[in-house]
Amino acid sequence: MNVLVVNAGSSSLKYQLVNVEQQKLLAKGICERVGSSGAFHKHGLDENEHVLDAEMKDHDAAMALVIDALLDGPTKAIDSLDEIDAIGHRVVQGGKYFDKSALIDDDVIAKIDELAELAPLHNKAALMGIHACQKLMPNVPMVAVFDTSFFQTLPPKAYMYPLPYEMYEKHSIRKYGAHGTSHRYVAERAAVVLNEPLDELKLITCHLGNGCSASAIDHGVAVDTSMGLTPLDGLMMGTRCGAIDPAIVPFIMEHEGLSTSEVNELMNKKSGLLGISGISNDLRSVKDASEQGHERAQLAYDMYSNSVKKYIGQYIAVMGGVDAIVMTAGVGENCEKMRRMIFSGLQPLGIVLDEEKNRQRGFEREISTDDSKVKIIIIPTNEEYMIARDTYEIVYAKSQLIEAGSETA
Ligand code: ADP
Repeated sequence: MNVLVVNAGSSSLKYQLVNVEQQKLLAKGICERVGSSGAFHKHGLDENEHVLDAEMKDHDAAMALVIDALLDGPTKAIDSLDEIDAIGHRVVQGGKYFDKSALIDDDVIAKIDELAELAPLHNKAALMGIHACQKLMPNVPMVAVFDTSFFQTLPPKAYMYPLPYEMYEKHSIRKYGAHGTSHRYVAERAAVVLNEPLDELKLITCHLGNGCSASAIDHGVAVDTSMGLTPLDGLMMGTRCGAIDPAIVPFIMEHEGLSTSEVNELMNKKSGLLGISGISNDLRSVKDASEQGHERAQLAYDMYSNSVKKYIGQYIAVMGGVDAIVMTAGVGENCEKMRRMIFSGLQPLGIVLDEEKNRQRGFEREISTDDSKVKIIIIPTNEEYMIARDTYEIVYAKSQLIEAGSETA
């Protein structure tokens, strides 16, 4: 089964075409600056990537270009649209409605729309992707895979905020988490690498990319996570501040004369590594500057590692121990220096990084010493594969029911 995985952002549209049974990537690409001037479309596997300048006034136009590139020219991956068996859409906010991925129908679309109140940019963008695919491929089944679903198992003591209870009742204000598809994937893979059943493990998973989050997964069940009502909470990130004293928000608004959207922008786009270093949101640049003696870059680097370390400590306490800590995404997978700083001083907790293994490159691997009580593992994340697999499972199960005559198409 070929699944087109679609990740629509407010001005971008990322996609991959995956053959699920063969676990084979057939094509991938991204349309950027959708709806503004200077839009472009990158398509093709890495060694065969083409960058195509193209006007895209909206997501419908972007999706039409994606289909052209899949069907024709040097980037061709399939002969006809019939070779796309299903489409999997990444949706950020599934709220209380979705504790797993769902076959898209009118009701699911209405709920994604309703939940846009909690994630305005993201859910509206996903809907644009869904509508564009519906127009161009009306008969292809589609599945929504939610970033939040994996965290629907959190107990109330973890997902509630200590605000007046009516805030929860009236506005659904609670922790939903994000990056759930990544945490679910790396937890599953970690169990394979450790050769132990997932439901017998206590794991802490750290997704450290531009956005950063950590999760506590107790016997296969997510029990806590660092992102909150929105992906702004928790760890310090590339441009997001993560958890700060909430009283700072009205203080800044008052003293800097900022509106709610301006203070939101300050915390989401101008903070984190970028805000502290004044150099970049990219950890590589911050690291280079810190090594050349840039004090604020060094401070940003120190704060980032400290932020991860503190969440590891919290989650050990939450679960009463941990068997393995999993590192993933751009920083977690690639930055040996950051990993060294995160794990330094944790030896009394039975967490011992192997300096040599930490330096080596590779795919999925353990980087703790042989006698470390707690294992440290690197698992490259693959959210697209997870979306493709969920889509496959749901669409396949539905087709079996239709074949058995217990459901209509
Ligand atoms: P996104 O959340 O955009 O998917 P990624 O998972 O690609 O982000 O992670 C991007 C981050 O990973 C950037 O801060 C980048 O500097 C960092 N990164 C990637 N490779 C390295 C590396 N070799 N050393 C240090 N940081 C790296």
